[in-house]
Amino acid sequence: MATPCPMFVGGKEVPSFSSETTPVYNPSHGTVIAQAPVGNAADVHNAVKVATAALSGWSETPAAERARILFRYKHLLEENFEALARLVTEEHGKTIDESRGDVRRGIEVVEFACGVPILLNGQFHDNVARNIDGVVMRQPVGVCAGITPFNFPAMVPMWMYPLAIACGNTFILKPSPKVPLTALRLARLALEAGLPAGVLNVIHGGKEVVDAILAHPDVAAVSFVGSTKVAKYIYETGTANGKRVQAAGGAKNFMIVMPDAEMEFTTGAVIGAAFGCSGQRCMAGSVAIAVDRVADAFLEQLTKSTLAMKVGATDKDDSIGMGPVIDQTSRDRITKYLDIGTQEGATLVADGRKTATSNGGFFVGPSIFDHVKPEMRIAKEEIFGPVLSVMRAPTLDDAIAMANQSAYGNGAVLFTNDGGAARKFAREVKCGMLGINVGVPAPMSIFPFSGWNDSFFGDLHIQGLEGIQFYTQSKVVLSRWNTGGRRGTWS
Ligand code: NAD
Repeated sequence: MATPCPMFVGGKEVPSFSSETTPVYNPSHGTVIAQAPVGNAADVHNAVKVATAALSGWSETPAAERARILFRYKHLLEENFEALARLVTEEHGKTIDESRGDVRRGIEVVEFACGVPILLNGQFHDNVARNIDGVVMRQPVGVCAGITPFNFPAMVPMWMYPLAIACGNTFILKPSPKVPLTALRLARLALEAGLPAGVLNVIHGGKEVVDAILAHPDVAAVSFVGSTKVAKYIYETGTANGKRVQAAGGAKNFMIVMPDAEMEFTTGAVIGAAFGCSGQRCMAGSVAIAVDRVADAFLEQLTKSTLAMKVGATDKDDSIGMGPVIDQTSRDRITKYLDIGTQEGATLVADGRKTATSNGGFFVGPSIFDHVKPEMRIAKEEIFGPVLSVMRAPTLDDAIAMANQSAYGNGAVLFTNDGGAARKFAREVKCGMLGINVGVPAPMSIFPFSGWNDSFFGDLHIQGLEGIQFYTQSKVVLSRWNTGGRRGTWS
């Protein structure tokens, strides 16, 4: 039976104003598990009205009280941890361990948000002018919206709304129509934790809903995570309409393997980075650059381990190493890149079309191209699937130059035991999240997720203290306590 997928507005499950729906699949089997409403502008107007009405009460709630609700929310998320992870696996298709990671990283943001009383600390300056003291306070911005992609159904929404509501804003979340069920479960739990109705709302839909959010005068800030084309559109449209916008886009992440890298550790980390979540991660390692003499030995070990990976349906077998991709359209796009790479002259040493069974699900196994050149499309474009391109470079300088040609700037990784090489890499690579002997420099709740170039549009990044700044505006108050003979207001 299909799982209900209503909107969640004002603390209640409500139907959409539109009767159009889109199927939600279990990608392991290609079966429809729910029908998500394709909302319209009326859904947005209703949600903004509700979120606006909830704003004055919530923004006036002391930060310590808001934190107390977040502590209860964290507790409920832990109690429901396994059920949430299973739901992520069902609607997304990633392995259960990957889903647990997805939920865990999200909970870490809630933990960070629990510190909001101290995170909102302002500044005080005594005697900024004679007899005048100055204070900087941070206040909420208002109604905020979050538009999220399919690849992390729990973590990416939780990059946004826990911080936004901790800061005293109200929030409208529009999850990907491909994975709407986890977002709904997360919102219901927040209500159960004591979050007042209307503070966190979930609406479903596509471009019409997004455009209505971007145009609505009462939406103050928009957080977006998704592909670069849409991120740029959202940044440009949202800022033109006077909103603050943080918009994280796509990626092409490079992994440089030095001759002195420890081979077994490195191949394991490269495989995890390239094929984890079936390559559907914005931090996926999609190009490996083998430096100097390491290439042949690295390729051999990499190919052997890749061909041994167990690919299959993830919802009933916890031992599966790699699950399906999200849908048939993704599968078609990825297999088209296997054709493109071959036509461009790269050597397909592992062909995922041969190693994946279909059983009705959206499967493509892990694939590796060797002898990839920087000008090839498979070296430049985001494939967003389990395809690893291997390039060869004579020196670290050449490898860094290859990585720096990328239009994106999310992540890069170096495997080495040479401290000098590591320092050079860290200083010279032009992107925002680096790993040194770390396959995936995963976003951490305490740090900003620092995409550069076409991987991010905006000024304040998602998460960490930049996230707090994004969801608050500063106000400076200058106070003269004593106005010459008469009693000062507070004296
Ligand atoms: P997507 O851009 O297709 O969709 C993201 C969101 O935008 C969804 O909610 C979708 O409904 C909405 N949307 C889609 N097309 C739109 C349009 N034309 N106008 C307005 N809204 C639109 O992305 P996706 O396929 O769901 O996710 C994969 C992409 O997300 C990849 O490019 C990946 O790199 C990126 N991503 C980036 C990060 C990051 O932090 N940089 C993290 C996760 C995913």
